[in-house]
This record gives sequence, C-alpha cells and structure tokens, in this order.
Amino acid sequence: MGEVYNQKFIDFLQRLLDLTHAEPFDHPAYKALIEEICEHYRLARGDTEFYTTPMMEQRHIGEVFCDFDNGKGEKVLHHIRIVSRTKAVIKATLYVEADDPERSPEEMKQVDILLRIIIGFVARMRLIRMVEEFGFHDIDGFYNFRAFTRYLMLANSENKLGGKVAFHIDLHNFNMVNQEVGRQNGDTVLMNYYKMIEEAIGDTGIIIRLGGDKFVGIFDRKVKRSVFGLFSDAAVPYGEGGDKRIRVSASAGIYMLSDPYVLKTPGDIMDKIMLSGITAKQQTEGSIVIYDDRMKAEKDHVKKIQAEFRKGLAQEKFQVYYQPKVDIETRRITGAEALCRWLQNGKIVPPMEFIPILEINTDICDLDFYMLEHVCRHIRKWLDEGREVVRISVNFSRKHLLDVDMLSKIMKVIDQYNVPHEYLEIELTETTTDVLFRDLKRVVRGLQQEGVWTAVDDFGMGYSSLNLIREIPWNVLKVDKNFVPKDDEDEGSVSNLMFKHVISLAQDMGMEIVIEGVETVSQLDILRRNHCNIAQGYFFDRPLPLEEFEARLDRKVYPE
Ligand code: C2E
Ligand code: MG
Ligand code: MG
Repeated sequence: MGEVYNQKFIDFLQRLLDLTHAEPFDHPAYKALIEEICEHYRLARGDTEFYTTPMMEQRHIGEVFCDFDNGKGEKVLHHIRIVSRTKAVIKATLYVEADDPERSPEEMKQVDILLRIIIGFVARMRLIRMVEEFGFHDIDGFYNFRAFTRYLMLANSENKLGGKVAFHIDLHNFNMVNQEVGRQNGDTVLMNYYKMIEEAIGDTGIIIRLGGDKFVGIFDRKVKRSVFGLFSDAAVPYGEGGDKRIRVSASAGIYMLSDPYVLKTPGDIMDKIMLSGITAKQQTEGSIVIYDDRMKAEKDHVKKIQAEFRKGLAQEKFQVYYQPKVDIETRRITGAEALCRWLQNGKIVPPMEFIPILEINTDICDLDFYMLEHVCRHIRKWLDEGREVVRISVNFSRKHLLDVDMLSKIMKVIDQYNVPHEYLEIELTETTTDVLFRDLKRVVRGLQQEGVWTAVDDFGMGYSSLNLIREIPWNVLKVDKNFVPKDDEDEGSVSNLMFKHVISLAQDMGMEIVIEGVETVSQLDILRRNHCNIAQGYFFDRPLPLEEFEARLDRKVYPE
C-alpha cells in the first residue's frame, strides 16, 4: 500500500488552502495551481456546478464553471455531489482520456480530497458573488444605493471625485410610458434607458436606481454632453429585439463637485442633487437644474418657518385682522374677511411670507382651523356684548380638500361656540385638477346644507373657468382686482366684455359679488356701472386689528 499523505499531495493541499484564504477566484495563481494538479494526476477536464436549490438542479438552472480542460477528457473519473446546509447543491466531475491507465487507490483518495477543497472554494466564491448581487443590486437587477455609496467611498479614497458631476433624475411621466407600451415593455424601457446612461457614463462613474423611476449617479465632466443629452431626450428601444422605440426624458438635479473634492458623507452629495432635483421637477419636462447654495438657504428658511410655526401656534402668536366689505351705495359694512397676521418679535409678518411655505405640507390646515376658532370666539363675544354682527369670511386652503372630514371639523368648531351658521363664510380658491374639483363641489354643497356661506376667492386670477361658477353652487363670487377693467380701457375691450359677462352670469345665478382690492374712486365708478355693489379694499379700510374693527362694526356706516 502506498502512502496517501505524501509530500507532493501535502504541498498541493497547502498551496490550495493558502489560496482559498487569500486569492480571488480567477487569480492567475489559482489557475496555475489547478493546471499543475490536473497534470500531476493526468486529469483532462474538471467541471463544477452550482445550484441554489435541488429544484433548480433538476431544472438545470444554475452555474457551471469549467476549471480546466485540455480538450481530451472523454471518460468520467470521479463525481461528487454535495448538498449544503442551506440546500445549495454543488457538483463536481473529473474526466480523463479514454485510454488513461488506472490510478492507485491512494491517488484516487488524494484527488477526492483536493476536489472537495476546490468545491468548497467554488461555493465560497459563489456566496461572495451572491452578496454582490443581492447587496449591490435591487431585485430588478439595477445597481442599488449601496453600490452608489461604495463607489463614492472608493473614489474618494483614491481622490478621484474632484470635478465630477452628480445627478438625480426622475423620469418624466413614466406612467404614461407604461400605459402606452404596457407594464412589461415599460420595465424593458426602464432597463434600456438605464443601460444607455450607463454606457454613456462608461467607467467614469456609476448610475444606480433609487426606486421606481428615480435614479442617481455620478460621472466625469468629459461625458457630460452625452449624458445630459439622454436626460433631456432619449429614444429608448423595447419590444422583440428592440425594434420599437419610445421617447423618454427626465428632470435632472445636478451637483458639480469642486476640484479637488473631499467627501464627508455620501449624504452631502445626495442632499444637493435631491434639492436641485425638486426644482427641476417643478420646471418643464426634461429640465436640468444645477445646484446652487441659494437652494440650501431657501430650504433652511422653509425648515425654520415650519419649526417656528408650531411654536407660534402654541403661543397664539397669530392674530386675526378683519378687512370690512362695504356696500358702495349705502356705505354700510356688510361683512368682513378674516386675514392672518403673524406677530414675530414685535413685528407683523404678512401672510404671503409664510402661507406658501405652510402649504408645502398640511401645516396650513392647522392655521386655518386656528383662524376659524378665533373668529368664532370673536363672533360669540360680539353677540354676547349685544353688538350687531356681520358675516365673517375665513380663508380655507385647498389643501383641506383631501381631508374627507373637513366639513364635520368645521361644523364642530362653529357649534362649539354656538355661532349661528349664517354668520360664517368659507372662502376657497379655484382648483385645476378634476379630482380636486369633485372634492370642492362636495365641500361647498355640504357647507351650504349647513347654512354656512361659501365664496370662491380670487376669481379671475388663475385659470378660472366658467365651469367653476356654473357647476358649484357658491353663494359669493370674490373677484380679483386684476379682473376689473382699468380706468382707461374702452367699453368694447375683451377684458371689459369678459368682466361684464361673468358678473351678469353670476348675478343671474343669484350670487353675491364682492370686488377685492378696490383702492380708488374711479374703481368705485366702474363697479357702479357694472352693478357690483360690494367692495373690499384699501379705499374703505385695510385689514384691521380686532379693536379697530369693532369700532367699524359699531359705527356701521362709512362717511361720504
Ligand atoms: P385673499 O384671501 O385674496 O385676501 C385679500 C388680500 O388682498 C389680503 O392680503 C388683503 O390685505 C389684500 N388687499 C385688500 N384690499 C387691498 C387693496 O385695496 N389693495 C391691495 N393691493 N391689496 C388689498 P393679505 O392679508 O396679505 O393676504 C394675502 C393672502 O393670504 C390672502 O389673499 C389669502 O389667500 C391668504 N391668507 C391670509 N390669511 C389666511 C388664512 O388665515 N388662511 C389661508 N389659507 N390663507 C390666508
Ligand atoms: Mg380671501
Ligand atoms: Mg382674494
């Protein structure tokens, strides 16, 4: 009997084990060693196979690695099949030449041991690949955010980030693409678009998918032109063999890295491309917006207002100002609009400086209810003091429309202060989308059934359509001052005709008409000529603090 553990075998064993601890799979040292082993044992070919489960093995879905092949392997010498604890199947087959002389049992034993070590090696490398696959790709096969972070860290450690261009893109109307070509083709379009950008970027950077139709990445300035070209307009192939093409474009937020650039955290780059991305998204299709520090300042400002708003609300720093509405014939006060003022460090901040920010999220809704509650408190007080009260209108942002409970919440506040419903009016602005139009109709009807007045605010400012007044049963039409014809305008001008028509239509429908922003005597004349009798504007009064407004209520009539 020969010796199994002879010197040659131990040498192979040692070298193999050294490699499995240190060297990557396709390292030349590994290949050379395999070759040496195969020659020593006169092996002609060696295959290993890897299947994630026995079922995959049955269906032959897996991976086959050929580690050595001299082209003469015809006869199977040895075969091993191992099922791992995780149910992965690893198989190995060794071939020899057909007329190969027999090996000794000791040699066969050695071959078996070496082969088992190699299989273990293959399985381990395969696992590392799976980590790469699952760790750095999403389920659809796109690179994921971790791959982006890894790229940034690596490039940073090699000082290679300087002067690069980072981007965040959001595909324009991708649901339309899906509708047009079908969901499955849509997936192909997405992948092909990604590959086109990947190709344009080449080895100068990376593109990864954040999720959905949003991607981020980074590349070298020298490929900027071609990559930007794909952002603004790309013809992406899909279908059998890519014979069809569809246009794809994206809004892109860009950040140009300084040169040199030192990365603190990947978040620094993400923050900037997300911010410029938001701006890009608000602009027209396919726009590319480059980050600048003012965006950061703007974002900080927004955050600050949002934080201070909460405090201001809790400390009741918001005040209700009242602007009277006046009948221009009798000069009697007929109503008033409640307008919000923010008292900050002794200064009064006008709504235009904070309301658009509060409308980014739903903060505005809390402010509107705060206003409604304070107005109800005031009306209750006036009634209890025996004053003659006029109807007060409160502005409600269109942000409320998505809240299905808006109506019941409004009624709860009014009833809590036991205010007769006809003393309240809710001002809402027009909307442009169909969904909101439907909600608007529902809310206005609901308020009306409760006996609360409703007004359409700023009519004539945006895309006011006649549908808005024809289909929704408003009580009051508040006409923006810009819709009122100018002094010197001739009778037959388009704006004059439009104004006349809208007013008479609204009057025919029984609506009350209030003209906003009336400042001059000549404007009063125009109103008179068009039979509009209620005016709200600086001509009579600016929005007034509570005590001053109460004085107007008591006086009732504006002197000539
Ligand atoms: P709005 O509802 O159209 O209110 C009328 C605005 O026109 C008020 O501005 C008022 O001060 C101003 N105004 C009145 N008469 C004249 C005039 O003769 N000339 C000029 N140039 N302006 C006049 P204000 O108070 O700055 O409010 C601006 C907007 O902010 C309001 O427009 C309304 O949309 C919003 N707003 C104010 N308070 C609230 C609130 O409590 N909730 C909500 N959601 N929005 C509010
Ligand atoms: Mg208003
Ligand atoms: Mg208005």
